[in-house]
Amino acid sequence: MAGRRSFLPLIHRVHIYTTPSQVQAFSDLNRSSGRTVAFVPTMGALHEGHCSLIEMARANADVTIVSSFVNPLQFDNAIDFEKYPSTALADENVCRLHGVDALYRPSEHVMYPEGFATSIHIHHLSDIFEGASRPGHFDGVATVVTKLLHAVRPDIAVFGAKDFQQVAVVKRLVRDLDLPVRLIVAPTKRESDGLAMSSRNVRLGVEGRREATRLNEGLREACTRFAQGTTRSSDLIDIVRSHCRSAMIVIDYIDIVDPDSLATVPYAREGDVIILAMVVGGVRLIDNMIIGSS
Ligand code: AMP
Repeated sequence: MAGRRSFLPLIHRVHIYTTPSQVQAFSDLNRSSGRTVAFVPTMGALHEGHCSLIEMARANADVTIVSSFVNPLQFDNAIDFEKYPSTALADENVCRLHGVDALYRPSEHVMYPEGFATSIHIHHLSDIFEGASRPGHFDGVATVVTKLLHAVRPDIAVFGAKDFQQVAVVKRLVRDLDLPVRLIVAPTKRESDGLAMSSRNVRLGVEGRREATRLNEGLREACTRFAQGTTRSSDLIDIVRSHCRSAMIVIDYIDIVDPDSLATVPYAREGDVIILAMVVGGVRLIDNMIIGSS
């Protein structure tokens, strides 16, 4: 794989496309010229977590395409959708500064025109954890990812490990539908106090922001205890739970799972993953940590 040199011209041009045919033509033109194409799907409001995916895309392909689309199908809560931050101009600048070649920004009407009736459901994987708390969420994710991959036709697509179940769902989607794309999973980018970066963090108040660090502290403590010999999942989960005991935190789930099947494991092994979701001061946050990775 070629990968691209890391310096950029002073004024780097980002092509902005709004329809599948435009972005497809750009991608086809590049691939027919022998260039590899990497794709980073996002919902905009770009932060350093997204930038680390972009860097990974640039290091693994010649051309990088980012999409920005707040996908209504994956929101089970209308208020969450309406409150989702939108920073279109800042996003364009982030793309320019990070050497993105094209930004695909379709409207809702372009993605889901009148009469749109297709949905992709991945049995079981889409129904547990996030899927149980947010019914239909992963149908929305699988449907939009399939549409985006068809529009962009990348050689590589980069997803963040922060959304661990999303990665498992997309891997299964790509495998089951023989989609011709290689997936790369980028590690979770964190604030200096360990909080996983997320577009939703801006909605945490000062206190919520402080309390939210408990999630990562709990995960790290459980991993440390695993390294010291504690392997029973219920014991490790209790450690996370006790770190997250706070009047501001409502725990949705904490579990330890196999990374591919997401099946709960009674005893943790290296490579299994602690996954959790919590509502901190009204803001739903997810995080995870691979056991044996720290
Ligand atoms: P979103 O815009 O939230 O849909 O995220 C777009 C992509 O960025 C997904 O693959 C996410 O997993 C990834 N992502 C979001 N936050 C982070 C983070 N803190 N570190 C790494 N990747 C992230």
